[in-house]
Amino acid sequence: MPSQQSEPPDNRLARLRGPKPPQPYTARKITALTANPACARRAVLDAAGVDKALLAQQVGYEPRFGQSPFALAREQAFHGHVKWGSYAELIRLLREQLSVPVAEAHVTDLNEVGGNTALHLRERETRRLIAHVASGQDVRLILDRPLLTLEVAGQTAYLEPDALTHRIGGKFHVVLIRSFAAIDGQANPTAVAETAKQAAVYVLALHRAFETAGLPAEQISHEFLLVCPKDFSNRPYGRLIDLRQELDALQFQLSRLRRAEDLAAQLPETATLDTARSADEISSSIEALDASYTPSCLSFCEMARYCRDEADECASPARLGSGVRNDLPGIDSTRTALDYLDGVAAPGEAEAEAADLLRAAARLRRLRRGAA
Ligand code: SF4
Repeated sequence: MPSQQSEPPDNRLARLRGPKPPQPYTARKITALTANPACARRAVLDAAGVDKALLAQQVGYEPRFGQSPFALAREQAFHGHVKWGSYAELIRLLREQLSVPVAEAHVTDLNEVGGNTALHLRERETRRLIAHVASGQDVRLILDRPLLTLEVAGQTAYLEPDALTHRIGGKFHVVLIRSFAAIDGQANPTAVAETAKQAAVYVLALHRAFETAGLPAEQISHEFLLVCPKDFSNRPYGRLIDLRQELDALQFQLSRLRRAEDLAAQLPETATLDTARSADEISSSIEALDASYTPSCLSFCEMARYCRDEADECASPARLGSGVRNDLPGIDSTRTALDYLDGVAAPGEAEAEAADLLRAAARLRRLRRGAA
């Protein structure tokens, strides 16, 4: 879901991006970032709010990535359906899934506060209402598009889950509405897994909000409610999904991200990621940011085809996957590895062990071929 990002405080990241408004962080972006926490390139591009699809295009690569306009329109229509009539369908699902009397639940729309859509106002109002419900003063208040914050690579990301339920059995639940169908109660496992990772981002942000307000975190459920269309109809279906594994993984990966400001500070003063500048200027700045390409990048990053060609050019072992990269510690090129095997070059002390393993593997391969 769309979310927002605060302007980088030291302006270095904003200067790199150029005059365009920043692209917001989203839960989808945060999960992609944590899928490859070693990549300084993506960390800086996301923290600066650069439009990565446009950037890739400017340097000659069609991104071929992201949700189609058709899928986005379908998702929006389904959202409207779930929210129609003061969340009637959501309230029905809560009653079914959590077995509580919620008929008299009411909803507060946090898309704006008194006609004002400013992020800080929406976030403050969200915190106020969470404290209000958490203290037991109003147990029947559902929050529509609450605004939560999370620190990501040293930046503040503003995040908007679709909804936050009132306390049910003493707990708040994050709700996500998706337009992929659940056929006979089974939705596409890849889509569910991706949604669960995004839900974990929101739940973690909710934990931060509770921590800041001094509220007991036990009131946050480790399950989220996934709402999607039932079978081939438009009728909403709901299922609670456990997030403990995703939460542990996300916390660990977020702790591994380096501060984007520190990474950006290592770039030359003339560096630019402004998509209006020439392809040469942009390319040299992108190259100055360390990438950590693996084939899985193709499934989540708009820059993947650019980074793949770059990895090909320098014969990076990671181009063949993290398994190969991990098997060749200290060897940064498959050409070098082949030179060691062919005896054209001698490995140094740091590469000796990897070179021995390579020779052993080559011997085995020859033996197997001989045996075949
Ligand atoms: S595609 Fe490139 S920028 Fe994106 S995560 Fe992979 S290495 Fe980093």
